[in-house]
Amino acid sequence: MRDKSVNTTSPVVDILKKVFGFQSFRPNQEEIIRNILDGNDVFAVMPTGGGKSLCYQLPAKLMKGTTVVISPLISLMKDQVDAALENGISAALINSSLSPEEMTSVVRSFRNNSLDLLYIAPERFAMPGFCEILRTVPISLFAIDEAHCISEWGHDFRPDYLSLSDITKTFPETPVSAFTATATGKVQNDIISKLGLRSPFTIRASFNRPNLYYRVENKRELKTQVLDIIKKYAGEPGIIYRTTRDSVTNMADMLKENGIRALPYHAGLSQEQRKANQEAFNRDEVNVITATIAFGMGIDKSNVRFVVHADLPKNIEGYYQETGRAGRDGEPAECVLFFGREDIPKIKYFINQMPDGPERTVAVDKLNQMIKYASHNVCRRRQLLFYFGEDYADKDCGACDICTETVEKVDITTDAQILMSAMSRTGQRFGTLHIVDIVMGADTKRVRELEHDKIKTFGAGKGRDKNHWRFIVDELLAQDVIHQDGDRYLVLKLMEKGKTILFGKEKVSALKREGPKKKLRAGKGGGFEKYDEALFEKLRALRKELADKQGVPPYIVFSDKTLHEMCRLYPASLSDIAGITGVGAAKLERYGDDFIKAIKTYLNETPSLERFKKQQAILGENCKGLLRGQENN
Ligand code: ADP
Ligand code: MG
Repeated sequence: MRDKSVNTTSPVVDILKKVFGFQSFRPNQEEIIRNILDGNDVFAVMPTGGGKSLCYQLPAKLMKGTTVVISPLISLMKDQVDAALENGISAALINSSLSPEEMTSVVRSFRNNSLDLLYIAPERFAMPGFCEILRTVPISLFAIDEAHCISEWGHDFRPDYLSLSDITKTFPETPVSAFTATATGKVQNDIISKLGLRSPFTIRASFNRPNLYYRVENKRELKTQVLDIIKKYAGEPGIIYRTTRDSVTNMADMLKENGIRALPYHAGLSQEQRKANQEAFNRDEVNVITATIAFGMGIDKSNVRFVVHADLPKNIEGYYQETGRAGRDGEPAECVLFFGREDIPKIKYFINQMPDGPERTVAVDKLNQMIKYASHNVCRRRQLLFYFGEDYADKDCGACDICTETVEKVDITTDAQILMSAMSRTGQRFGTLHIVDIVMGADTKRVRELEHDKIKTFGAGKGRDKNHWRFIVDELLAQDVIHQDGDRYLVLKLMEKGKTILFGKEKVSALKREGPKKKLRAGKGGGFEKYDEALFEKLRALRKELADKQGVPPYIVFSDKTLHEMCRLYPASLSDIAGITGVGAAKLERYGDDFIKAIKTYLNETPSLERFKKQQAILGENCKGLLRGQENN
């Protein structure tokens, strides 16, 4: 089974176009596929949304025998099988969710050699007799998805994966490919040695996700800030991450009260409830899921348009993985972190519960990196990639708040002096809220009791609002002019630099940014073209209807990328629509007519668009070229 090489370019590209409906490969896909077809083992680290599935699904279609995919989660397997079936690839799964009859039927198809793809859970390998069944049929490839689960060094270790150890010894004739989105060098070596991969062709792809826009906003009025984001995306799916179960529940309730279809997800809910909520999100029945980090692996939903972190994450690894769930389809998506310094002591509190030792030191270090990410005026993308050991050379990434928002440099020396004077005159023993109260001349019980209304700077900053003073505090903290001290209750203290500024020996300035109000933003090569939003709404509804009929999630019928392209090019015939990204032969036949009809109806109802449409048609070829160009970035 190792001699199935295909020696010309065409069959591979042909299948890419006909079966998957894609015009070009994403980075590294083609090399990986060629190595698989040459019978080599493969080890690939590619970011979430990088298109790992295609790397084994395409060869599966081309090679004789069945490709066996090992995947950790039942829900994930089901979606992948559905997606393959939608593309006309013959696929099935074996896991504990099957009834005995279903099981028999799958094994029969497998034995008849009629499956291109068979998905199985790793624990099957430990079951007596299962490997014997596998031996009865030619297997073209073992593809191990989420391969980092085999390593105890990784963060998602699953003991079940250990039953894959030495798979290469059990099936010496069959090539093995391992895929993951996260693996440090140490984890990589561990995976390769546990599986026994034989001089694998190895890929470590860039972690850059050009279609993701990163933004940090100071957390002020969380409710309004979150509602604003959801409003901006008008009904399109998003995830809101929070730290605690209570805050997840409260946030979901708040959203529901405001008329938003939202559901919670955390480890405290029953397994059925979690499954139902995830399913509702997957099927676009709810718009927003509020979740702890328990909501993670097993979401292949490709049309998540925004990921919000409403609390500070503990480290950049976790943060990056969670934001990675946005925009898997390659279309623009936004990742917003609401940064409040009051979250820092909460995380520190947990870190302090750890036994004293290197692990605790590492945790503190990681938290500090996270804080730095949120508070420094340095390109977010560059900071994230730097963390993963990549040097992002571009000066302007084009898709983060730092690189794109209009900034104004303002002198804040006087305000800083007012604030620091209030701190100093009260003995540097108070936190942000109280200091801001003093500066603003607030009449609070605490101020009166402590007689802080008697100090010289009381009310000196009355002219500006609370947000302004919080901004000044944040800036001074970020610039190491002042610092926060204390474990649970944080007090503001002056640093050396603070003293020189307070005594007028140095000046301090800050960058004020204007937040983006518009929806579409993405980085270089990340796709930023406009599309007809009114038509998109119609096609989205149609997609949902067809998906329900078919019993699959909407994004499996067509991705947002596919719909967006239709909303730019207004395809009018089957051959037009066949040229759209993501429309392969099977989907063309199944859905082509429905979409053409919907587009026609829309155009008839919107006659002013006719002329525009004609222009688009003339430009069509160029647009397609452009779209292809983006895929190669
Ligand atoms: P991963 O497993 O690496 O996170 P997936 O395999 O789920 O990523 O792919 C993410 C999305 O990208 C899917 O919607 C998939 O259809 C799409 N995709 C994969 N390869 C291509 C390609 N060459 N052109 C366009 N879209 C692609
Ligand atoms: Mg995947």
